[in-house]
Amino acid sequence: MTRSFFKIFEPFSEVTAILSESSGGSMRPVEARRRFAESAGIPTNRLFYAEQMHGPIVSIVRDDSDARMAECDGLLTDFPDTALSIIVADCLPIYVYDPKRGVIGILHAGWRGLAGNIARVFSETARKEFGSEPEDFLVGIGPGIGPCHFEVGEEVSDKFRDYEAAVPPKRRDGRAFLNLPQIAAFQFEELGVPHPQIEISLDCTYCLSEKYFSRRRDGAGSGNMLAVICRKR
Ligand SMILES: [Zn+2]
Repeated sequence: MTRSFFKIFEPFSEVTAILSESSGGSMRPVEARRRFAESAGIPTNRLFYAEQMHGPIVSIVRDDSDARMAECDGLLTDFPDTALSIIVADCLPIYVYDPKRGVIGILHAGWRGLAGNIARVFSETARKEFGSEPEDFLVGIGPGIGPCHFEVGEEVSDKFRDYEAAVPPKRRDGRAFLNLPQIAAFQFEELGVPHPQIEISLDCTYCLSEKYFSRRRDGAGSGNMLAVICRKR
């Protein structure tokens, strides 16, 4: 088990930022999440997860928080030895670390979360609560469904007109696709996160059928991967 899915976190030995693979089974059952975290050496007595709603709402994990955080799609904390997790299958996991303030965060971002700019909501919450500045953030984005497979209708692509480079021109047959990881990266850059501090996984969950679950590919019965971030004391 590697300590980080992203190179960007490698210089920070205190941080674990990982993602389960489909070979480990679906992470929908809470028990599976605990087993996966345990196998990665993550403290399961402080494993938090979001009750995901596909919206731009983030919650702060505090001392007296419930393991299951009500109706939100992002979690953040400055507590050490505290693991934050979400489940994904095509939607993006986004991992954030602010080494200056010791703040970690995890976001579940599909097009709805990005349309609501969950990155901005996260950043504003981190600033208000912990004094974090976006210029200190390290951001790992993905893997999720790639621009090769994320076909959308106009009502969705229209929401991202501001991010022209992430909305590829319609194909000859009229089909439109979106580059969600790129949109997420643009949103963090807009907030002031320096480009070199953002890393995008180019893995497409739909393409890599041996490795990942994909809701679009596998249908409503698809399994889920678990994305976890934790900072050791
Ligand atoms: Zn693909």
